[in-house]
Amino acid sequence: MIEKKDIRALSKVELRDFFVTHGDKAFRGNQVYEWLWNKGVHSFEAMTNLPKQTREMLENHFSINHIQVDVMQRSADGTIKNAVRLHDGLLVESVLIPTDTRTTACVSSQVGCSLNCKFCATARLKRMRNLQPDEIFDQVKVIDNQSRIFFNRPLSNIVFMGMGEPLMNYNNVLSAIEKITSDEGLGMSPKRITLSTSGIPKLIRKMADDEVKFKLAVSLHSAIDEVRTSIMPFNENFPLSELREALEYWYRKTKNKITYEYVVWKDINDKKKDVDALIKFCRFAPSKVNLIEYNPIDDGDYQQADSSAIDMYQTMLENAGITVTVRRSRGKDIDAACGQLANKR
Ligand code: SAH
Repeated sequence: MIEKKDIRALSKVELRDFFVTHGDKAFRGNQVYEWLWNKGVHSFEAMTNLPKQTREMLENHFSINHIQVDVMQRSADGTIKNAVRLHDGLLVESVLIPTDTRTTACVSSQVGCSLNCKFCATARLKRMRNLQPDEIFDQVKVIDNQSRIFFNRPLSNIVFMGMGEPLMNYNNVLSAIEKITSDEGLGMSPKRITLSTSGIPKLIRKMADDEVKFKLAVSLHSAIDEVRTSIMPFNENFPLSELREALEYWYRKTKNKITYEYVVWKDINDKKKDVDALIKFCRFAPSKVNLIEYNPIDDGDYQQADSSAIDMYQTMLENAGITVTVRRSRGKDIDAACGQLANKR
């Protein structure tokens, strides 16, 4: 049997064209688009404003591939981690993080990751493939549903901080965000979406040129090249000077402040010179530094710095006029925290 084409790989224009070439009205394409991306249905049967014949015709031509939650785990702190199965059997993870006022979805953009950051569990998986826009969209839908069921409210924020490097899957990630934010899709505000990247200069420039409206977070972890290369080896090819120039370009074009994610490790980046370099690096634009707690991974040999080092970072950054938050990890007991995804598989 020939595999049917996934209908969600078609743009709205392509859907409209499909109907016209099959002797039907173009507006059917809009109707189907709305069923797929606004209502998020997974069957042609559910598209009740289409004539039965039309639904059967679609059935003969297309499939609607969709993800399935394989295992859902709940943490003592309310965090939910989903292992989701893709149509070809591969697994990724998506996390729901509740606070008093928000529900955040932490979504994956790739199966595995090619970047090899030494402290991250996903790096151990290597990159298997990019996620399709609908596979990213579905993770958001799953978590929105869970938020409604378990917390009585819709999803409020999305962070691309799950598995993978979103900028290495640029087109699909932007296409998913388009579906999540457009009025014909889920209609979420792009201001509630944060793309987190380890910092690929040319793609940061591209985002600025594409005038994206979501927020940017950069996983910096060190503003000293040798140190950063030792923990994030790809830094060798994209040194901090290039990253910094790309971020200046981003800021000039978008006027959006930049968030830096930063873990402080014992004997790696816990000295005053490390903070000095960080301040020097991010001073050019309004910035916020998120000091994230290190989540140990199985065979990792990194250790969270002493709290005195965190205090030093906080004081020095504040004195330099840089916003700083100290973020506590969520969902550690179920390996749902940053960098722990795929820890146990
Ligand atoms: N590739 C993207 C998004 C995925 S990682 C990026 O690099 O930003 C999401 C965040 O978790 C990044 O800031 C990453 O540096 C951080 N992280 C990875 N492993 C971690 C660990 N073991 N403990 C704490 N944070 C970690």
